[in-house]
Amino acid sequence: MVGDTGQGGSSTTAASTTTTSRRQLLTGAAVAAAATTLGLTGSAGQAWATVGHARPRLPAGLFALGVASGDPDPDSVILWTRLAPAPLAAGGGMPPGDATVEWEVAHDDRFRRIVRKGRVTARARWGHSVHVTADGLKPGRWYFYRFRCDGQVSPVARTRTAPRKAATDDVRFLFASCQNWQSGFYTAWAHAPAEEPDLVVHLGDYIYEGGASASALRPHNSPEIVTLADYRNRYGLYKGDPALQAAHAVAPWVVTWDDHEVENNYTDLQPQNHPAETPAFPARRAAAYQAWWEHMPVRLPPPVAEKLPIYRTVDWGRMARFHVLDTRQYRSDQACGEGLGPTCDARTDPTRTMLGTAQERWLRRSLKHSRATWDVLANQVVMTSMPLGGALYNPDQWDGYAAARTRLLDDVRAAGTENAVVITGDIHASGVGTVVDEGLNAEAVGTELVGTSISSSFDPALVDAAEQLIGALPHVEWVNARQRGYVRCDVTAGELVAQYRLVETALQPMSPISTVTSWTITSGQPGALPT
Ligand code: FE
Ligand code: CA
Repeated sequence: MVGDTGQGGSSTTAASTTTTSRRQLLTGAAVAAAATTLGLTGSAGQAWATVGHARPRLPAGLFALGVASGDPDPDSVILWTRLAPAPLAAGGGMPPGDATVEWEVAHDDRFRRIVRKGRVTARARWGHSVHVTADGLKPGRWYFYRFRCDGQVSPVARTRTAPRKAATDDVRFLFASCQNWQSGFYTAWAHAPAEEPDLVVHLGDYIYEGGASASALRPHNSPEIVTLADYRNRYGLYKGDPALQAAHAVAPWVVTWDDHEVENNYTDLQPQNHPAETPAFPARRAAAYQAWWEHMPVRLPPPVAEKLPIYRTVDWGRMARFHVLDTRQYRSDQACGEGLGPTCDARTDPTRTMLGTAQERWLRRSLKHSRATWDVLANQVVMTSMPLGGALYNPDQWDGYAAARTRLLDDVRAAGTENAVVITGDIHASGVGTVVDEGLNAEAVGTELVGTSISSSFDPALVDAAEQLIGALPHVEWVNARQRGYVRCDVTAGELVAQYRLVETALQPMSPISTVTSWTITSGQPGALPT
């Protein structure tokens, strides 16, 4: 057994001589995903030597929240887990104190050819979460990983690195958002492993902060969450879902956030219910940001009080650059009131901001320095102008920050960005639009793909009217407010094909998924056409 377990040096040799096909890896991944779904922790893998191990002292089920990986670059990826044997109990069921966690990265799902391994401390301070930078990996390759602690072995999952800088490899990514536990199951996520994605992008509303609703399909387990313990508990609930765990186990994720990771429609340090709750809000946001960081596989240092910069760039060789945006932490308060309504002076006020000055500057440079064929803006709220009936604006969307949108689109043009693709969540409806600056009835600057929700509902009583109003907008090509799911994007040098993969219903744990519509963006031509 010792002979089977290579050290870093010998496995590097194995790496250069092995040409494992995507198909072979997927077989392993399917096993890993199935093992995760079935809760078989590590039983399919090579036994992890336990020589000299002390008597177990921690409760069983340390890896109940699964494992995840994210933010790949050409030679490394972030590996995540959190020790929580009783995710809904205080402290996740962990006794006080830190714990040591071992990790392994291998070429094979049986861990015979180990590439990298190490130890990391799961600190009680950070909810016993770990974020390992598994580095020294080869570009553009698939790997398997697992953790061990106190004699318990985690589920096995797979991940991959990004291609080398100059590579022109194709990429298949899924993007999704809005997974309110109370309004549906993660039916769509159960289908994600079969899509064979290279990457999954989550655009926010990973959790919802609301209190338990008696009428919910599957109610939350607490009142509205406010404290760090509350937010950790909510992630414990959501991340216990086997379909969500399986989706994390199949590929690395790139994650950003929207409002519900903290509170509906908050902006900067302003809660929805201001000024009444404003004094308490920094502490609430600090708790929410910390719990988010503890539960996401992100290449980011931990938050400092209520601050956590998360905007960042993820490159996929020369094929795609993902500009990961944060449209909540720095934005000005919504203009013209909170709800749908007519325009007002504040809506177009140039002193108001969506990204904040520093993030605007970063995005300008990120666009300018991009050498990618496709520049994907991982965004939250709808960017396409959508005055319903020609007159009613949603002040929470980019429409409510019209001058900031003009600045962004000017930057896209100035950077010479040929293929700007904005991917968006938030509205719990699917859509395809062309990004054109308001009032400039001029050129298309990019394409917007709006994904529906994984589970969050769209009021059935409003579906027909919403589809009629949105579908009538000049720059909207297609809309569907009825179905839940995700979008699968197949990206090559010549085109980006977006398939809207929607389930029949998210009101049951299992339901068939299908491509309801497919849109092609041709390189050099903003706007999508039906495939
Ligand atoms: Fe949402
Ligand atoms: Ca939202």
